[in-house]
Amino acid sequence: MNPKLPINDMLLPELIDFFKELGQPKFRAAQVFQWIARGAADFSEMTNLPAALRETLQSSLTVEGRPLLDLPRVLRMQKSKTDGTRKYLMGLWDGQAVESVFMKYSYGNTACISSQVGCRMACSFCASGIDGKVRDLTAGEMLGQILAMERESGEPISHVVIMGTGEPMDNYENVSRFLQLVHDPAGKNMSWRNITISTCGVIPGIRKLGKDFPQVNLAISLHASNDARRSALMPVNKSYPMKDLLAACKAHGDQTGRRVTFEYTLIAGVNDRPEDAAELASRLRGMLCHVNLIPLNKVEEKEFRGTSRQQAEAFRALLEQKNIPATVRRELGSDIDAACGQLRRRVKA
Ligand code: SAH
Repeated sequence: MNPKLPINDMLLPELIDFFKELGQPKFRAAQVFQWIARGAADFSEMTNLPAALRETLQSSLTVEGRPLLDLPRVLRMQKSKTDGTRKYLMGLWDGQAVESVFMKYSYGNTACISSQVGCRMACSFCASGIDGKVRDLTAGEMLGQILAMERESGEPISHVVIMGTGEPMDNYENVSRFLQLVHDPAGKNMSWRNITISTCGVIPGIRKLGKDFPQVNLAISLHASNDARRSALMPVNKSYPMKDLLAACKAHGDQTGRRVTFEYTLIAGVNDRPEDAAELASRLRGMLCHVNLIPLNKVEEKEFRGTSRQQAEAFRALLEQKNIPATVRRELGSDIDAACGQLRRRVKA
């Protein structure tokens, strides 16, 4: 009996239907759902299931040869010597691989997960888009990154940011399913407010997110204060120009009552001058928002250089003078190339 989806992609009602077809009671589905959320990587670990059922499940495959329990496998883990950040290379069922990051913050352990293998947005300063997009990740593969990191580190994860490789709004359907899975109180039970989605500015996705998941945090990769500069750095700006993007963010804030975060990567000599801060402040005036300044992290193939910490602080001060709340992001994991924009597709460990 082979279902269409691996069971860790299934929402609880779908899992219940699948177990029904196997002639199993509802509570079995709930047990399995809970085992998955607790990080079980094999049916043999699900010790409260009857042995015969475990064997049936063990021998099932889904469409296209995917395993019934289709979890990413940790191929490699690198631990930062400076801040305890861990970067993982996760192997997927078809031989592809993505990177995920575990970070320690005062408010809780946070997973930064990937949403696609590669990325087709081609931002000029980012490592993730260098080879284009290979494929979307499934909901189960997104949740699986969190579960695999919890299992390997032995530490619970309470927060997630979809800020790894990929553009989540370019894979909205699977991301939406992931949000439902990770939030389900019968499973991982993560609160909406502990989840953040970062987008390069795909407006239809922003609108859908506000409607479908109004309590999930929205972060926008802005990186420039006008269309000419933004289009040069981020091709997506040609489809969704800043005026429309900022209007969508304003509407999102009005509708959800939540503050939008703007990520602004500071690139030396490109977008980090005092005039840039002034223009940015005027564009954001009156919006419920917060600016997160990230001095560019070095990407080997790219020429760009990051702004110094000191100059980043000066940029922040200029924004705050204009009443735009801003912070300079603490840089985690740069000694293991796990910082923002340094994640990429690696096929070999
Ligand atoms: N596609 C989504 C999710 C990726 S998030 C998005 O664009 O938001 C990764 C964040 O790191 C984005 O804000 C991205 O612009 C930023 N980033 C990319 N390359 C970077 C680099 N070299 N240094 C610092 N930040 C970078």
